[in-house]
Amino acid sequence: MIAFDLQCAKGHLFEGWFQDRHAFEGQLSESMVTCPVCGDNTISRLPSAFAIKSSGPAPEPGPSPEAVARLGRKIASFVDQNFEDVGCDFAKEALKIHYGAAAPRNIRGVSTTEEEKTLKEEGVHFFKFPTRTDSSGES
Ligand SMILES: [Zn+2]
Repeated sequence: MIAFDLQCAKGHLFEGWFQDRHAFEGQLSESMVTCPVCGDNTISRLPSAFAIKSSGPAPEPGPSPEAVARLGRKIASFVDQNFEDVGCDFAKEALKIHYGAAAPRNIRGVSTTEEEKTLKEEGVHFFKFPTRTDSSGES
């Protein structure tokens, strides 16, 4: 149901309830909407409409911070499941893999800025992503 604030030609204000906006417009165009005070059927709608129990979809703004956080968690959990955690040995392991001293595999871990520089200089491909800051005990 949807309610509209309506006004007749004589200025009486009243509220009209309709199945939906389409029903309202249909009834209005057929002069079926009349003023409960004077019976006038020259009705205009006031801009302040409000809807109750609307079945229409809610307007969708851009991605919410929650959605972005959810995506971040998805990436983190993908990495969790598909990358071997080598912790602080990340740079060492990455170089070993790079030079064939260790089996090629996906690894994750932490590295210092200094180590990152070395990896870049050695031509090791890696990417950084923000780690989870929440400690909600997911792992
Ligand atoms: Zn009226």
